[in-house]
Amino acid sequence: MSDPRRHVPRTDTLLADPQLAFARDRLGHALVKGAVQRVQQRIRDGEVAPLDAVGAVLASLPSTASSLQPVLNATGVLVHTNLGRAPLSPAAVEAVATAAGTTAVELDLGTGRRGPRGEAALAALLDAVPAAEAALVVNNCAAALALVATALGQDRELVLARGELVEIGDGFRIPDLLVSTGARLHEVGTTNRVTLADYRAALGPDTGAVLKVHPSNFVVRGFTRAVPVSELAAALAGTGIPLVADVGSGLLRPHPLLPDEPDLQSTLAAGADLVLASGDKLLGGPQAGLVLGRAELVQRLRRHPLYRALRVDKTTLAALEATLRGPLPPVQEMLAADLDGLRARARTLAARLAAAGIDAVAVDAPARVGGGGAPEHPLSGAGVSLPASFAAPLRRVTPPVVGYVEDDRTVLNLRSVLPSQDDLLATAVLAGAVLAGAVLELPAP
Ligand SMILES: *Cc1c(COP(=O)(O)O)cnc(C)c1O
Repeated sequence: MSDPRRHVPRTDTLLADPQLAFARDRLGHALVKGAVQRVQQRIRDGEVAPLDAVGAVLASLPSTASSLQPVLNATGVLVHTNLGRAPLSPAAVEAVATAAGTTAVELDLGTGRRGPRGEAALAALLDAVPAAEAALVVNNCAAALALVATALGQDRELVLARGELVEIGDGFRIPDLLVSTGARLHEVGTTNRVTLADYRAALGPDTGAVLKVHPSNFVVRGFTRAVPVSELAAALAGTGIPLVADVGSGLLRPHPLLPDEPDLQSTLAAGADLVLASGDKLLGGPQAGLVLGRAELVQRLRRHPLYRALRVDKTTLAALEATLRGPLPPVQEMLAADLDGLRARARTLAARLAAAGIDAVAVDAPARVGGGGAPEHPLSGAGVSLPASFAAPLRRVTPPVVGYVEDDRTVLNLRSVLPSQDDLLATAVLAGAVLAGAVLELPAP
């Protein structure tokens, strides 16, 4: 037998192949060269024939230079932090692609001089929340809290109710973040109750701000009391102490399905001086921290040196503007979907899968807002119940499908899937059924 090592094609010969040159333009030299070297090794090991080298390299290349691939979210959790939170609207995706090149994010094309950064996105925010005088966008809501705590609370006190010392998720505790900036926390009230008198007693010359944090992922029931923003604002009037409210979810206006979720407009109208929220929760936009409110305070934050470390890039500004100005983002669309429509889609999907011999049943399945929002307001939902053994194979098909296992069944919840994705979901589940060994092969479409 001849030594396969003698027939291994040279690296530069392979890289010069037109198909691989095309791949290099798209994916970059390093990625393609790595794939070439791995195939050369497989040729030496006798696993690949030398003549098949180019095909083997092409087959091993990823489709894009990033390994983050689309996933179908069938968890029924609309804003799933592990799945990238809010999916962007097509308009926002297009805005991101357009802004990704060179763009006048901080240049006035009329005068040729430096202009305000992200002016159009800020204008869109102010149009959406007329109660705000000014707006600022930072990396996320945690960054907004850090900026506020640093600029208003460093070496001073932030007054905060004990019942609002919130852990958001993955060990992220808001009090720890606030203290890490050099602010001192002045906790008031008890876990379940706080009164205006408690706040009043805490105010003094060291007070930097009074902070209200929406306990977005839990509720305290029974013998409870909190002080609404309007009462706090009235008590602080004339003291010069700012009232800052972290509302978390990023609702612009009250939402009929989510009566306990505070929104930016109402919270400012009730008298908060600043409101903070995430961009990628119920607003349905890119990851961002939104800061809106009194112009003088927003300006203080913008001028603080830390702002430079927290500001967002051009693609975020583009996506945010398109989310606010453009068509309804997917999160809002999913929230608005009616139960009858979801049930009809579930029946269609179940019938299609059952026709291929899969044990699939349409079921009602409650959904959730997620992202720590509206814990007390389960959303209605419907989906398809499959054998539990489907869960793992479904995560390995293209695109991967993420559902959940409940009562020994894999449930795919359609509340978090857009109707335009139903066909893709069906195809992916059929592929998953083959992997799961539930069907040997699929009937021709
Ligand atoms: C989600 C949330 C945060 C954290 O927001 P990020 O944008 O993830 O940093 C802060 N505060 C509240 C009340 C929240 O719900």
